[in-house]
Amino acid sequence: MSDSTPETPEIEKPKAPGSPEDITRKLEDFIKNTLGGQVLFTRVEGHGTRPSADGEEKPAEEKKEDDGEAFEFNYKPADIKAHLDRFVIRQDEAKKVLATAVCDHYHHAQMLREDRIADAKGPRLEFSKQNVIIIGPTGVGKTYLVKHIADLIGVPFVKADATKFSETGYVGADVDDLVRDLVAKANGDIGLAEHGIIYLDEIDKLSSGPDRGGRDVSGRGVQTTLLKLMEETEVPLYAPNDMRSQMQMMFDTRKGRTGREVVNTRNILFIVSGAFSGLDKIIEKRTNRKAIGFVSSDSKGTAAEHLFREARTKDFIDYGFEAEFIGRLPVRVVCDPLSADDMFQIMKNSEGSLIRQYEREFAAYGVKALFADDALREIASRAEEEKTGARGLVTVWERVLRDFKFEMPSLGLPELHIDGALVKNPEQTLALCRSAAASMVTELGAAHAGEVRAFAERFQREHGFTLDFDSAAIAAVAARAQREGMHVEALCVKLFKDYPFGLKLVTRSTNETRFRITPDAIANPDRFVSDLVVSACRNQQAPSVSNIIDITPDLPAHEP
Ligand code: ADP
Repeated sequence: MSDSTPETPEIEKPKAPGSPEDITRKLEDFIKNTLGGQVLFTRVEGHGTRPSADGEEKPAEEKKEDDGEAFEFNYKPADIKAHLDRFVIRQDEAKKVLATAVCDHYHHAQMLREDRIADAKGPRLEFSKQNVIIIGPTGVGKTYLVKHIADLIGVPFVKADATKFSETGYVGADVDDLVRDLVAKANGDIGLAEHGIIYLDEIDKLSSGPDRGGRDVSGRGVQTTLLKLMEETEVPLYAPNDMRSQMQMMFDTRKGRTGREVVNTRNILFIVSGAFSGLDKIIEKRTNRKAIGFVSSDSKGTAAEHLFREARTKDFIDYGFEAEFIGRLPVRVVCDPLSADDMFQIMKNSEGSLIRQYEREFAAYGVKALFADDALREIASRAEEEKTGARGLVTVWERVLRDFKFEMPSLGLPELHIDGALVKNPEQTLALCRSAAASMVTELGAAHAGEVRAFAERFQREHGFTLDFDSAAIAAVAARAQREGMHVEALCVKLFKDYPFGLKLVTRSTNETRFRITPDAIANPDRFVSDLVVSACRNQQAPSVSNIIDITPDLPAHEP
């Protein structure tokens, strides 16, 4: 076919739609139309694009054009499962299936890339994506599994609820945002983002079954849009309908970041999940078996999760999914509900256990929190009743520990034993803690008062100031010495080493030489003395008007 388009050198060449120049022009028009006046975006030479000899604009400095070459995948399914075992309790089947699907996916992606590099013109390898559906109730580790896989293999991970998309109306644009979010998570490394994982929860809400209300149309719409994404499509790096995104593009262009502007979704792994309530009924009907809903692993009966394991494509279609959509999710796996014992194991053995978090929180105040198994069992059984999976653990623990988290930092006790009795009656244990703290003050005070007094006398002899330690301060310094493995007197020397200088300033303003030392001085000696200095200066009598020295320079007489 001959190219009959006439040459039109005098007319400015049309800019490719979506190109930086095209967007710049659109932005200029937009701002001109909205705000009026002539608007021009200037370009900084040496940054962004620059005109070349042939008049074409060329990028001044190419953005790191990472085509995923840097992404190396060398894992075996067993490596991934072993990593997941450290954090996720139970869900063995899900761990195996996910580990295998992830390895298949990334090995294929790697082979495709090598194939493309080796023979750019030859036929491309066939590759059917291993996108996954996870079926399971809330709080059983679905997200946790995916997040830890992404962490291990070093790819960006984005999670969203599918319901978000069905409600917006601007469905397509939002779904594309997931891909742009991956780029953001990958710090702008498009190649890495193209190997990321997109995880969509509540996917069951996109179905258009008879009992799924008004979601039918938008749900089906989102399925279609997602379908494209799951298959292979190019998503613009800058959302075409979003002003902010366009401004970002301008900014990037002018900064010299003029790399690729589309993200290919071929190698992005999609994992979707949902509770799929009602799907069991469909399978039940087909198989003529009866289920009793999601039940914990301790319960008896044909649990829904057993039926879910038999789910076929037809069941998902009957549930209200488009055949094409469900066809793009060939790997299916069920996550089991968690029993009280599982939750006990989560607290006791998972590396990400909430218990470690509480230990760190108390340790920040010098309190060693010691969790007994009977406490964990009691909490686990209460959490099971919450019916929110392991999420229930946080709810129950917060209720039990709320007052301890507030009061323990001030009581000065070195340890907190969190046992079954505390969980059953927190108020009573807290009252015991309070009285233990009070008697600790008395006991420690009595045991170490002599050492503190000896220090105070020496301080008085050497610096001329009297430090009056109150009984709580004596207990506090003794407790701190115990914690830090020091002698009380040596600790006092360390804590009060800067006091002679600070107290001299105070004396100069107030003539005071006797100072009361409270537990605050033991917790933060520097702040204590600087507060003394500040308040001494503030309380110093304000100078009377007659004492004010006039420092106004002599000015020449004002000309009228
Ligand atoms: P969902 O199944 O709804 O995606 P999550 O995976 O987000 O639930 O779980 C919520 C939290 O509960 C996790 O962050 C994790 O701390 C804990 N958790 C849930 N299931 C497990 C599990 N099987 N093993 C260890 N921790 C878990």
